[in-house]
Amino acid sequence: MTDCVFCKIIAKELPSYCIYEDELFKVILDINPSSTGHSLILTKAHFENIYELGEKEASNIMSVALKISKNLKEALNCDGLNILQNNGAEAGQVVNHYHMHLIPRYKNDGIKIKWTMEKPTEEDFREVMKKLGR
Ligand code: 5GP
Ligand code: ZN
Repeated sequence: MTDCVFCKIIAKELPSYCIYEDELFKVILDINPSSTGHSLILTKAHFENIYELGEKEASNIMSVALKISKNLKEALNCDGLNILQNNGAEAGQVVNHYHMHLIPRYKNDGIKIKWTMEKPTEEDFREVMKKLGR
């Protein structure tokens, strides 16, 4: 993709702080980090979102996430870590090139990743299950 900021980073047309790279992925520091060490796992090939993601990337990304998570914990001594992956504008996706956020968390860092907790009825659950074909 010629007009994609992450494709340009992969192609080294734009600079980045790369902390890991292999055949399928490049891991970089987020340019506007939520916390120290906020990293992004980028697929080297351009996929817009999880629905488009290649099988090879899908089956390998978690082992990269594991490696980087351990590295962040050991190197930065973070107290926690959020893994976040946005698909579609409604879900907060801004860059339309598949990526996974690794966000180290520190005591009292003030970051809020929140949703409301609803109380569906049995019927609501049954309806969702039915829609899901279960
Ligand atoms: P999204 O909301 O699409 O899941 O997240 C996009 C992320 O990419 C944001 O956290 C943003 O700071 C980061 N980002 C956008 N442009 C660049 C860039 O040019 N370089 C780097 N390193 N990160 C970027
Ligand atoms: Zn791209």
